[in-house]
Amino acid sequence: MSGLADVVGADQVLTDAGVRQGYETDWTGRFHGSCEAVVRPADAQQVAAVLRWAADNGRAVHVQAGNTGLVGGSVPAPGDRPVIILSTTRLRTPAQVIGHSVLAGAGLTLGEVQRLAAAHGLVYGVDLAARDSATIGGTVATNAGGIRVCQYGMTRDQVQGVEAVLMDGTIVRRMSGLAKDNTGFDLAGLLTGSEGTLGVITAVRLKLHDRAPESVVAVFGVDSLAQALEHANAQGAGLQAAEVVDRQAWRAASGPDLGDHPWALLIETDIETAELPDEALVATEGPDRARLWEFRESQSEVAQKLGVKQKVDIAVPLDRLDEFTSAVYASHPCSIFGHVADGSLHVELFDEGEDDVLNTVVALGGAVSAEHGVGRVKTRAVVNDRGAATVAAMKSLKDAWDPDGVLNPGVLFGADA
Ligand SMILES: Cc1cc2nc3c(=O)[nH]c(=O)nc-3n(C[C@H](O)[C@H](O)[C@H](O)COP(=O)(O)OP(=O)(O)OC[C@H]3O[C@@H](n4cnc5c(N)ncnc54)[C@H](O)[C@@H]3O)c2cc1C
Repeated sequence: MSGLADVVGADQVLTDAGVRQGYETDWTGRFHGSCEAVVRPADAQQVAAVLRWAADNGRAVHVQAGNTGLVGGSVPAPGDRPVIILSTTRLRTPAQVIGHSVLAGAGLTLGEVQRLAAAHGLVYGVDLAARDSATIGGTVATNAGGIRVCQYGMTRDQVQGVEAVLMDGTIVRRMSGLAKDNTGFDLAGLLTGSEGTLGVITAVRLKLHDRAPESVVAVFGVDSLAQALEHANAQGAGLQAAEVVDRQAWRAASGPDLGDHPWALLIETDIETAELPDEALVATEGPDRARLWEFRESQSEVAQKLGVKQKVDIAVPLDRLDEFTSAVYASHPCSIFGHVADGSLHVELFDEGEDDVLNTVVALGGAVSAEHGVGRVKTRAVVNDRGAATVAAMKSLKDAWDPDGVLNPGVLFGADA
């Protein structure tokens, strides 16, 4: 370990078992791993030196950021090589707003970037409940979705540039933010959503948006997801978010009574053009809006408290959402919530039915991961979803960039790939 201490400083190589423990279990408490040390580099050069040290010394490297990922990708999988966790949380190059974009170190949190954008009268288009722990680099590495996808798109749609360190220690950087740039491969696009398997993202350049029109938050009951979509579509271009929570989960979060409807629908929409039913609970002021959002945003934590066994993030075509939920409710004890306008649902299973749910998703033409990624948990399902030939093409890229499989072994690719 002394070689690592020479690179990052002895105080940034954490070997104490009690300290390591916090890094060896993920947010859900479902995934564990073990590491020899947690290493905390401060810049791209140090990341490169850590990767070279690991390659020279027969170590695997597991990249961890805010550790809020929900598919086990943030902690080491069991393997035959000793592992060091490379924490990105010190990659905190201060964020800088340039026109309608922001340059930020990968270790800044999503919330910090959002607040900086707001201070410039602008908006960063990605938002999710873990905003104050998830890092901006982690959201790019997982191509995070969240609650504003219907308005601004996924993280991929915001990425204008990336600085990253590849396994051989090469630092690649393209941060010019040019609107037109067809000069070769789109490395930023390739690294977005690669879940730490191709390189370590050290800084990013992201698109910012003009502030959205003043909005209203409304909650009301609906009888199906098709009906929820009708209400979302009725908002036209004014729609800013459309989220559903099933009755069981809504009640578990102590949400207000919405009658006997099986679903609660939360809509945020332009106040000028809102099309809402008379019975909707409506909030326009900060604390009231936050209160309504809280019943939706607390859902991951509510499911944890209820003893969720498997958390399944999927997407199905919009016209098959009700067919999907009917099939799942009929077969498994679960609660369901999610981003209905994107066809993206989170199934919180109280049994071990994940494989069955994912088979249903594939049969309906959906995606086995909508926004959380593949991580450790869906490596088999990804072959089922994409087909062996596509997974082999992805793996050939991994093999070219990381021939010895040092980075994030066990993530994205299973043993058969
Ligand atoms: C309460 C809660 C709500 C959530 N809501 C949503 C949601 O609505 N939408 C959504 O998409 N996700 C959601 N998530 C999941 C999670 O917040 C996202 O996946 C987030 O993008 C992970 O960021 P992180 O910094 O915590 O990364 P980590 O969890 O530490 O890592 C995630 C993966 O990315 C890799 N990685 C991280 N940083 C880098 C880097 N700099 N370079 C290379 N690889 C890296 C890791 O190796 C790992 O494979 C939620 C999580 C929680 C706990």
